[in-house]
Amino acid sequence: MHIRKEDTVVVLSGNFRGKQGRVLKVFPDEKKAIVEGLRMIKRHTRATAKNSQGGIVEKEAPIHISNLMLVCPKCNKPTRIKRNVVRNEAQNKNIRVRVCKKCNEMLIKTT
Ligand SMILES: [Zn+2]
Repeated sequence: MHIRKEDTVVVLSGNFRGKQGRVLKVFPDEKKAIVEGLRMIKRHTRATAKNSQGGIVEKEAPIHISNLMLVCPKCNKPTRIKRNVVRNEAQNKNIRVRVCKKCNEMLIKTT
């Protein structure tokens, strides 16, 4: 998976081609991700105790990650990543980091 939660991604194909958004959730097994505000689907819901009105709710639908590309937070461009291993002295172990292929910035996420 080259995409993680909280990443900014751009959509490469489909109706939302060229649109950017923040990743809200990833589904590694299905290789899909939910991107904020993109690929909204309308869901018809019934009136329940929680939602006495029922009606139509708009919700994001997962997008296959092959249609998404990471936007580098440093150079602000859609980019491919490479993986490097760096030594984390504080934790005394090697960690894998994602590196932007365009500007070589390390894209470290704490999750
Ligand atoms: Zn970059």
